[in-house]
Amino acid sequence: MDCRNFIGHTKLSYIEIAMNERVVILGAGESGTGAALLAKAKGYDVFVSDQGTIKDNYRDDLLRNKIEFEEGKHSEEKVLNASLLIKSPGIPQKAEIIKKAKAKGIEIIDEIEFGFRFIQGKVIAITGTNGKTTTTLLTYHLLKTAGFSVALAGNVGESLARKVAHGNHDWYVLEISSFQLDGTKTFKPAIGILLNITPDHLDRYEYKMENYVASKFRIMQNMDAKDHFIYYADDAVITSALKTQKPTPHLVRISLKDKNQVYYDGTVMQFGFDENFNVAQSDTTLKGPHNLINTMAAVSAAHLAGAKLKAIREGLKTFRNAPHRLEHVGTINGVDFINDSKATNVDSVVYALGSYTQPLIWIAGGIDKGNDYNLIKDDVSKKVKTLICLGTENEKLKNFFGGVVKTILETQNVSALVRMALQEAKPGDVVLLSPACASFDLFKNYEDRGDQFRKAVQELRKEVENQLV
Ligand code: ADP
Repeated sequence: MDCRNFIGHTKLSYIEIAMNERVVILGAGESGTGAALLAKAKGYDVFVSDQGTIKDNYRDDLLRNKIEFEEGKHSEEKVLNASLLIKSPGIPQKAEIIKKAKAKGIEIIDEIEFGFRFIQGKVIAITGTNGKTTTTLLTYHLLKTAGFSVALAGNVGESLARKVAHGNHDWYVLEISSFQLDGTKTFKPAIGILLNITPDHLDRYEYKMENYVASKFRIMQNMDAKDHFIYYADDAVITSALKTQKPTPHLVRISLKDKNQVYYDGTVMQFGFDENFNVAQSDTTLKGPHNLINTMAAVSAAHLAGAKLKAIREGLKTFRNAPHRLEHVGTINGVDFINDSKATNVDSVVYALGSYTQPLIWIAGGIDKGNDYNLIKDDVSKKVKTLICLGTENEKLKNFFGGVVKTILETQNVSALVRMALQEAKPGDVVLLSPACASFDLFKNYEDRGDQFRKAVQELRKEVENQLV
């Protein structure tokens, strides 16, 4: 029997697996370790290979479950004898070991695909360049509030494979990146959400936008006429790609401007599935126009999954988003401090700026991934009174916004930064950390940048309060 064909079937049961089937997993992060646990639980001969150092918690997982592994290398003799290779989404197709595995005809998939082959429940998959985490968390929260048996997995929280190894759920809400979609074959969500497509990660797609777009559209490659594809219809890249896709699933269009199945009429979000159902953004915990899109997508998905409208309303009121996304971290002397450290590209900043009508002290900078600041020039000139650059190289920001913003300051120290910002602000102004850049020049990652900012604001708030006493 050809093992590869055998594995290629969906929904295998433990008994069907041939004893000698070898699953090799490349990369022992959350997805790789999750895949290893699931493969082990399903009775495969499992081997994990990581070219770098495996984090302690994942190494413990492997040891505890008696899963053989190596780190610091990929031993070809142990990898290339696999019947199935599960590749971390971080490893590019052009990596040497992947090329060799392909040449040998080994089936190569992603952990999401592997996990999917074993689940009994249905999947809601969420992708897009921006807004995935927020929409995924909200959809999950709405279903949970409605009393569903639901798991959250993918890029947020635990990997799908780990979740599946630990038990069954009726619904799985998954955040999926384009890299993960590249490694899917039979993956078939009952509900797919595509939020937007803007240029990002193009280095992985031969710098061709069409390759990146094709990758995102893999989300619906296996969807049938009973499935639903929810998408943001104001996104020109999505709508033009859809024309050539001949989509099979039901389409649910979301718009901020045009009367569509689901749209924002300028006052409330209207949901075509029930004429009495509309929601004002003030009835939700999320701010900004981008979150109208995310909310309309999540509500539509929850409704299609069968959640009652009353529970959806309730869920919208109690949702708490993940940190670093327009997170309010403190008010000092009437000035609100907002941590949007997750905004690592200009597109995110467009929405951040659109979320406020108050005068802004805008903090930006870090590692620029080829930003086009023209996208935000108008909004910055209307709203931003001071720009504080937080990076090691700030020339591009300073040159571009020199004639646009009255005051431009610069620092590499977070504690100095929040003081500077407070000094520049008047009561009622907003200090907005929305950097448009990656954080690696000064910080470990965007979380570290946001955490340091939050801490500095809290310390300054205490200091100011103590002075007043
Ligand atoms: P992702 O998981 O795709 O990175 P997040 O929900 O973490 O998305 O949000 C990342 C950033 O993208 C946020 O800081 C916000 O400014 C911006 N953003 C969120 N939703 C959208 C959207 N629908 N369209 C454009 N930008 C968005």
